[in-house]
Formats: sequence, C-alpha cells, structure tokens
Amino acid sequence: MKAVFINEHGGPDKLVHGDRPEPEVAPGEVMLRVRASALNHLDLGLRQGGSYRGSLPRILGCDVAGEIAAVSPDAHTSLKVGDRVILDNRVKCGTCESCRSGLDQYCTSQQRIGVDLDGGHAEYVTAPARNAYKIPDAMGFTEAAALPIVGHTAWHCLVTQAQIRPWDDVLIQAAGSGIGSMGIQIAKMMGARVITTAGSDWKLEKARELGADEAINYREITNFSQTIKDLTDGKGVDLVFDCVGADVWEQSLQCLKPGGRLVITGVTSGARATMDLSILQGRPLHLMGSGGRSQRTFADMMKVVHHGALHGIVGKVFPLEQVDEAHRTMEARDFFGKLVIES
Ligand SMILES: [Zn+2]
Repeated sequence: MKAVFINEHGGPDKLVHGDRPEPEVAPGEVMLRVRASALNHLDLGLRQGGSYRGSLPRILGCDVAGEIAAVSPDAHTSLKVGDRVILDNRVKCGTCESCRSGLDQYCTSQQRIGVDLDGGHAEYVTAPARNAYKIPDAMGFTEAAALPIVGHTAWHCLVTQAQIRPWDDVLIQAAGSGIGSMGIQIAKMMGARVITTAGSDWKLEKARELGADEAINYREITNFSQTIKDLTDGKGVDLVFDCVGADVWEQSLQCLKPGGRLVITGVTSGARATMDLSILQGRPLHLMGSGGRSQRTFADMMKVVHHGALHGIVGKVFPLEQVDEAHRTMEARDFFGKLVIES
C-alpha cells in the first residue's frame, strides 16, 4: 500500500512516499481504510528524531479518520465494516495497575499510533477496536481528522485538569494553533469569557468567528499581560491555557489573578524559562501540566462532537504524496487550525 514513512531522522526530505506492506488485523483490532490524517507538532519531533527512540521504518500520522475495512472476529465491538470513525491514538495495555484501577491516562506501557505504532499517512492502519469512535454522519473525514489529538488534549486540559467554569475569564494562547482553536470552542461551550492571542490580524478575525470575546495581536502588543489586566478591570484572568511555553511563560503568570490556574500542554517556543518564585507567595496559583489522557475523556469529547458543539478546524489540505510540503507549512506556522492529509 502507499504510505508516508521515515527510514531515518532529519528534514522533510527524509519523508518517503512509497510502498509498505498492508497491516494485518490482530486479535481485538479493526483495520481502517484511511481517508484523512492530520499533522501535529509531534510529527516534526518524530521526523527530526529529538526525543524519539522507536524502531524504523515508521509510518507517520497520529490523527486518523477513515472507514472500517475489517474487524477481528474476537473484537468485542459493535463496529461494522463501512462504519466511519476516528481513532484515539493512545493505545493502553488494559492490564497494568493504572489501567485496572480506571486511571488509564497513567498506563505505564501505552503506545501511540503514528509514533510507537504505524500511523495514518497510509491507505490502511490497524488499531484496537476500543480506540475507534464513530463520527457524525454529516461530518466529512477531513474535518474529523482534525479532531482527535487537539480536541482530546484541549478537553483534558480545560475540563478535566483546570475544571473550567462558566464565570471564568480564560486566556487561550495561540488561537491559530490546533490546540488553541479547540480551546476557544470548548471554553465558549462551557460558558466562559475567552481572551485569545495570535500573531496576525487574519488569525484574530478567525478566532472571533470561533467565539473569542477578545483577541490580542501579540506582535503589536508585546506586554500583553497589561492588556489582559485592562480587559479584566485590573484583576487578571482565572485561567490560562498555554501551548506556547517559554516565550509567554512569564507574562502568562502575570496575567493570572490570585488563585488563578494555568494549564500547559505544549512548549513549541521552547521548554526552558525562568520564574520569579515570589509570585507564588503573593498570589497562590495552581500550575498544572497536561500528561496522558483517558479513554473516558475521549468518549466525553465525542459526545459533544455528536451534539454538534465541537468542530474540527481545517487550515490546509494536502494529498498523501505532499506530506513533506505539509511539514514545511507547519514549520512556517502561517495557517489556522489543522493541516490535513487526504489519502
Ligand atoms: Zn496500562
């Protein structure tokens, strides 16, 4: 089958569009005829080989949407051939202490489709049946592929970790990122007031279309924490949702009111930052990480998708043979939402 994979780490030129063997359906699994698969920053790290230590070759693509093409006879599932689904790319063992106690987000031997297992930049991919979730009949595969990782991550961070409330003022960094565009939708769905940031006016306009109440151009306003204070009667926000990291860390802390919460899930601008620890004396803050996500929260998110309240935001679409071009586009960051590969 046609697939995009890496044999060695490096630049976008290391992405090979070629032939790989069709996967076989293992016990408990389903096979998908992939129709669309989205990019994540994770793909860039995997291609470059930084923290990745897995075996090669590896087919990339962590976010997958497609039709069920085969179901293992012993898979305990109601899914049938032809069903339209997306995949939760986190494959849990089901047997470790965390899994057995209902805390599968802490599974000690979880593997990720598209990282530790072959992914969706291909004609076919296999996954445990329990990782496949039906999508709404009216939703296209391209939109659906834009949902899983960023939707699940934003849901996990805002709803599970930070326990967002309708009366919260929320700052969502990087409106144009896949995570940010999901965060805006979820925060508005929960009734919060959303202030967001982006680096160009056209992205700010898109953010307002998604429901953001206030949008700040961080290239024009470098001291955005003061702007946040101005927008909140001098108080600051209750909650910051960040996927940017080092570049905004200090100002994000300054944006928080006493007792405020910050949840971080990405460090695309860098992972090292300095911090004035005395800030925690004057304003007791709750600083939270993201970490693993549970099957339960994926199922919760999918209910909202079926209610029609959460949509995949597609920035640009590429054919399978242009995954290298999609990686270059992701590095240039001049898009809003997700980059999706159609197979
Ligand atoms: Zn486990």
